[in-house]
Amino acid sequence: MSAHPHVPMRALDTLWFQVAGTLCNIECTHCFISSSPSNRSHSMLSLAEVESRLAEARELGVREYYFTGGEPFMNREMIPILAATLKQGPATVLTNGMLLTPRICEQLRELIDRSEYSLDLRVSLDGFDRETHDAIRGAGSWDKAIGGMRNLANAGINPVVTVTETAGGIRSEEGRTRFLELIRAWGFSRPRLKVLPLFRIGAEEKRSGGYEKWERLTLDHFDEAKAETLQCSSCRMVTSKGVYVCPILIEEPEARMGDTIAETLRPFPLRFGACHTCWVEGVTCRT
Ligand code: SF4
Repeated sequence: MSAHPHVPMRALDTLWFQVAGTLCNIECTHCFISSSPSNRSHSMLSLAEVESRLAEARELGVREYYFTGGEPFMNREMIPILAATLKQGPATVLTNGMLLTPRICEQLRELIDRSEYSLDLRVSLDGFDRETHDAIRGAGSWDKAIGGMRNLANAGINPVVTVTETAGGIRSEEGRTRFLELIRAWGFSRPRLKVLPLFRIGAEEKRSGGYEKWERLTLDHFDEAKAETLQCSSCRMVTSKGVYVCPILIEEPEARMGDTIAETLRPFPLRFGACHTCWVEGVTCRT
């Protein structure tokens, strides 16, 4: 065994899809996979590819599905992909909100109304206002994201707003209260907020510096019970290049665990800086 502890595969509950590959309509300075309008490291997934993975997942007893990118709504088949997914389980889409037009929100509403399973939207914001958010996500991104939020509100869809710690003070009680008030002001009487730490890889490595050598898990730190709470003990990520351990390490060749989902259901060595963040912060990318 290496000096790095291994996370066990407890049960495959959650399957992620890198549905837009690494293509995004914006280029955030903190993106841990450096998504951008020109990053084709991972390609978009087609409806046929997602359907074939859903069939595999059904056999393996997967309970819920998450979609991310890049920006999922750049994928022209996103609505049919969600329709197919909602036939077999609940789905969540992680989006920057900028492409949530009234028409897309109407289609999402129709999916919610006719599905037995839940469909959740997660909209990412990175500041309390236009200035701080646009500094991370680019000029005009705040106005478009808030426009998308209003379209969701008009369709009666209450998203989870995710905010990274680039929004200064968001981790304090006062910061959370302030953000919840903002969400209420956009038309959501029952605001939902998730705060995420930053992973210092991809674009974020250039912005704030990467991990120090000591920021790695060792067997001395490890405890099996805690390892079973890490998301990689119960999830896998489907991309155009195969199946990866988790939604965070898709640019690490060693994190590609196989071609089929079934062959990836084995322990994984937690030897990356990002694993240290998961361990210390208790992060899960699930809602
Ligand atoms: S980055 Fe986090 S989720 Fe991914 S393998 Fe490491 S500990 Fe698990």
